[in-house]
Amino acid sequence: MISFQIPARHPWPIFPNVSIVRGDLIHPVVSGNKLYKLQPLLKKALDSGASTLISVGGRYSNHLHALSWMANETGMTSIGLIRGYPEQGITETLNDCVRWGMKLHFVSHADYKHRYSADFWDPWLRQYPNSFRIDEGGWSPDSIEGARQWWLSIPSETTMVLCAIGSGGTYAGLVKSAPKGVTVFGIPAFLDSLGYPELKEKLCGAGVPPEKIQIWHEHVAVGFGKLSAEQKHFKKDFEQSTGIPLDPVYNTKVLYSLAKQIQNNPSLQLEKIVVIHTGGLQGNRGC
Ligand SMILES: *Cc1c(COP(=O)(O)O)cnc(C)c1O
Repeated sequence: MISFQIPARHPWPIFPNVSIVRGDLIHPVVSGNKLYKLQPLLKKALDSGASTLISVGGRYSNHLHALSWMANETGMTSIGLIRGYPEQGITETLNDCVRWGMKLHFVSHADYKHRYSADFWDPWLRQYPNSFRIDEGGWSPDSIEGARQWWLSIPSETTMVLCAIGSGGTYAGLVKSAPKGVTVFGIPAFLDSLGYPELKEKLCGAGVPPEKIQIWHEHVAVGFGKLSAEQKHFKKDFEQSTGIPLDPVYNTKVLYSLAKQIQNNPSLQLEKIVVIHTGGLQGNRGC
């Protein structure tokens, strides 16, 4: 359907026991984890005879960016329900979406809060009758299954795998399919002063055993879509010294957290660590 590279790993020279799966290079347009997540949903939509994909997201959404491109490639149309107001203007992300045939509707922040309820969706599904609903970030059992494919890039001697958490689908898929002896750690892109109870509940609901949930939140530092001054500095240094670009929302926080954890706990240098670079480089525009 849509062809792509199985991403290779690159070293992180200052930490020889760490390698980085270059999910950012998986495909020239749909960089990163959305390809693995959306592919099974796209297949399901096509098999069901739907002609339109309808989904939700923010103004910088990697998910809508990938979805609109994939819809266009396969001859489907797409509808994006955007959290925000038209007066805020069109971001470069949304501009690409429109270019790939996505029709945008803006949804107020108050309405967007109900994006998981049938009441939110019913009017839209009536307006676009032959459409297939995809939840925020692609969250679904199918996309969680799709995330298993990351193991194709992870060598068998690995003891720790790290990835970013947005909706948690990628993390859930990795944990559920992890071989014995590998612990999967998730680094949230957002803050939760209560200790992430809703995230944990959601992961358990998706079949992740509670005792396997390992969340590193100590160095997330600032809220979704924001970086601290130190994280910004880290991003620049990392990019210059490794030649690997990072997105500002997810992967900077993952690698920053890992560097901090290793500094605080040198025994981590005895582990064989793989970091999943989940891509998202289009998000570097406009920030
Ligand atoms: C969507 C996204 C994530 C988060 O993935 P989830 O499966 O929603 O947790 C991480 N990194 C990038 C670049 C993304 O676009």
